[in-house]
Amino acid sequence: SKGAAVVAAVAQRLASQRRKVDETLAPFRLSQEQLQLVKARMRAGLKAGLKSKMTSGVKMLPSFVYHTPDGTEHGEYLALDLGGTNFRALLVRFKKGLQQNSRLYHKIYTIPLEIMQGTGEELFDHIAQCVSEFLDYMGMKKARLPAGFTFSFPCEQTALDTGTLVTWTKGYKATDCEGHDVVNMLREAIKRHNEFDLDIVALVNDTVGTMMSCAYEDPQCEIGLIAGTGSNVCYMEEMKNIEKIEQKEGEMEKKEGTPEREGDMQDDGTKGEKKVGDAKIQKMCINTEWGGLGDDGSLDDIITPYDIEVDQNSINTGKQRFEKMTSGMYLGEIVRQVLLDLTRRRLLFKGHVTETLKTPGIFKTEYVSKIESDRLALQQVRTILQQLGLKSTCNDSIIVKEVCGAVSRRAAQMVGAGMAALVDKMRENRGLDHLDITVGVDGALYKLHPHFSIVLQETARDLAPQCNVTFLPSEEGSGKGAALITAVARQKQKM
Ligand code: BGC
Ligand code: MG
Repeated sequence: SKGAAVVAAVAQRLASQRRKVDETLAPFRLSQEQLQLVKARMRAGLKAGLKSKMTSGVKMLPSFVYHTPDGTEHGEYLALDLGGTNFRALLVRFKKGLQQNSRLYHKIYTIPLEIMQGTGEELFDHIAQCVSEFLDYMGMKKARLPAGFTFSFPCEQTALDTGTLVTWTKGYKATDCEGHDVVNMLREAIKRHNEFDLDIVALVNDTVGTMMSCAYEDPQCEIGLIAGTGSNVCYMEEMKNIEKIEQKEGEMEKKEGTPEREGDMQDDGTKGEKKVGDAKIQKMCINTEWGGLGDDGSLDDIITPYDIEVDQNSINTGKQRFEKMTSGMYLGEIVRQVLLDLTRRRLLFKGHVTETLKTPGIFKTEYVSKIESDRLALQQVRTILQQLGLKSTCNDSIIVKEVCGAVSRRAAQMVGAGMAALVDKMRENRGLDHLDITVGVDGALYKLHPHFSIVLQETARDLAPQCNVTFLPSEEGSGKGAALITAVARQKQKM
């Protein structure tokens, strides 16, 4: 009959649509072999980055932090934390003994886009202005407080309080900062402001701060992970494996008579000691900057056309390829690229390519998190899409949810594979058959996405079966950790 023919035609159309959607999402569904490859490449990247020459996209930057907290930290310290989206100032107090911190004051300031992408001077003037306001609020403008500066970007450090910005990442591109010492830039801005003074003791990556604050709670914590706007990890590495440091110290020895900088000193006041067995200087925390994996082409077989599109439209094309597949700043954009393609091929939204859909940044990762929430009925997914200006059918909303799921699952699996590479390396460093280790972690993707943390943990477990990895979410860790590092450095100076 005619009716039956229509039904059959509709069924056929749906089946063909389904097949095409599946084909589109297939490249995001990584096989076990592909995940093993990601792990192997991360492992190779970590290794290459420790060598003197920067051959790997993974930068492996020395932090000049030699050990996790031991409970002797005490006093009050200021932490200044420039993250992916905002600036935080906090005053933290430590009492002797672990787990004895308290946050006294705290304020968050947003960084407007025109400041992120203006001149370096404007950016640091803005930060100085925020600090000034914070000190007013605390009534502490007269005190010259010791401060730790958390700066969530790759810095080539030569001492605890000295580091040049290698390259901006995420949404930043302020001029005249790359290649400059960011601590100096902050000090100069404070001088220009001319209302207060600070003793800036430490420059700290957010991963390092997160590791330190979590280690203050759990001594097994020797890794810091950020899965937020950006993606990065740090960990405690054996000094003897850090070839770049060895080389630098070799160079230093030649320059006899040059006065030692305070920040270059090891724990015990000696320099260049790397003997195994000397408990005090066995390790240094390395900021891996693993987000740069793939910048040398090593992920090209996994990268999809949608990833290429996202990279091309970004402000740092060709850079941070791993980060662009795994972090909050980009997941929504990948989703949008897939939706755009499906719509152009008339598989979605009745083929209507709207202005909304063509607008970069419209699909915030927080929407991805919402859409994937298990508690959400399809009707609610439609409501979210409606709010974004996208008119969807029920079938559309099923597809959108699938796209979000495929993109965020791949992200979590890739971070899990990277983590597996790292913990296996640490286990082998120590010559162990089994390693128990804790990862301090922060970032909205980890904390707010409904499945990301679970998939990440499952993948790390599957790919590093000889390691037992515990994830410990941090609270304001990136700032508190900088305060801890400041405490250690200032106490040592007094001794
Ligand atoms: C930066 C890292 C940072 C990470 C998380 C990346 O874009 O390069 O330094 O740790 O984001 O904030
Ligand atoms: Mg942060």
